Amino acid sequence: MSGQDGGQIQNVVVVGAGAMGHGIAQVAAAAGFFVTLNDISEESVEAGLARIRDNLDRGVARGKVSEFERDDTLAHLRGEADLAKAAADADLLIEAVPERVDLKHQIFRTAARTAPAHCLFASNTSSIPLVQLVGAVPRPEQFVGLHFFNPVHLQPLLEIVRGDATSEESLQQALDFARRTGKEPIVVRDVAGFASSRLGIALGLEAIRMVQEGVASAADIDKAMELGYRHPMGPLKLTDLVGLDVRLAIAETLAREIDPVRFAPPQLLRDMVAAGKLGKKTGSGFYNY
Ligand code: NAD
Repeated sequence: MSGQDGGQIQNVVVVGAGAMGHGIAQVAAAAGFFVTLNDISEESVEAGLARIRDNLDRGVARGKVSEFERDDTLAHLRGEADLAKAAADADLLIEAVPERVDLKHQIFRTAARTAPAHCLFASNTSSIPLVQLVGAVPRPEQFVGLHFFNPVHLQPLLEIVRGDATSEESLQQALDFARRTGKEPIVVRDVAGFASSRLGIALGLEAIRMVQEGVASAADIDKAMELGYRHPMGPLKLTDLVGLDVRLAIAETLAREIDPVRFAPPQLLRDMVAAGKLGKKTGSGFYNY
């Protein structure tokens, strides 16, 4: 259907139905792909599908999505908690599980047992270089990074990461997927943090250090960037939205891979994560929700 025979991607499998996975599944289904959403249990798959229904219902209420588009998107979606079954007809498999190399390896290895030979494998990792994941995919030339932004159904950017082994054909498939899902692609070489996470985390970590040092309140630091630099959202609000745990994991990766001083996670970030203050998803972070 795709890949080696030059056909188009039709079936997309998204592994991980959390903050990113449910959104990726939604935009792919809205673009007309047949999407299977996988997670660790029936309950978490259902929770991801419920978030999609909720996004779409809110879109309809705001007049941004028609009732036909909502129903058509839902008709292109199904859930499957068994990854081997889900992967069996995948033309494109995108993993969006937590930022852990061992877990991502496990996902690719399990999926590879049943995925068709032409399947393009992709990771939504925000910071792990593809070279650390590629050993777990069956064909290195059919592997790319597809880095979406949160919330996926609203953010226009798709950062495509081209690994050393990624073929021209796979890159073209990724660009075509971006075009069909209405995302604006950028293509970045395989370095830790790519382009967006590296710059975004630098600003986020400095803002957290400033809260730690009592330079200003979180709200005022955010306002400095929102009003002074026209950022749509300040770095601390953004950290709450992304998840403090996710940002800590990215900082640790970049500290290891690029520079241990520049990307050292501030103690305040570590303390807040240890206290379960992960941002919006837990109801408290730099702000209360
Ligand atoms: P999340 O914790 O919200 O969701 C992860 C999901 O993966 C959960 O639903 C979890 O149940 C599921 N999962 C865990 N183990 C699994 C397994 N073995 N099989 C199937 N599903 C499993 O995390 P997230 O924020 O969606 O992040 C996912 C990935 O996307 C990470 O690599 C992260 O770095 C990247 N990312 C996150 C953001 C963001 O803003 N949160 C942005 C871009 C990229």
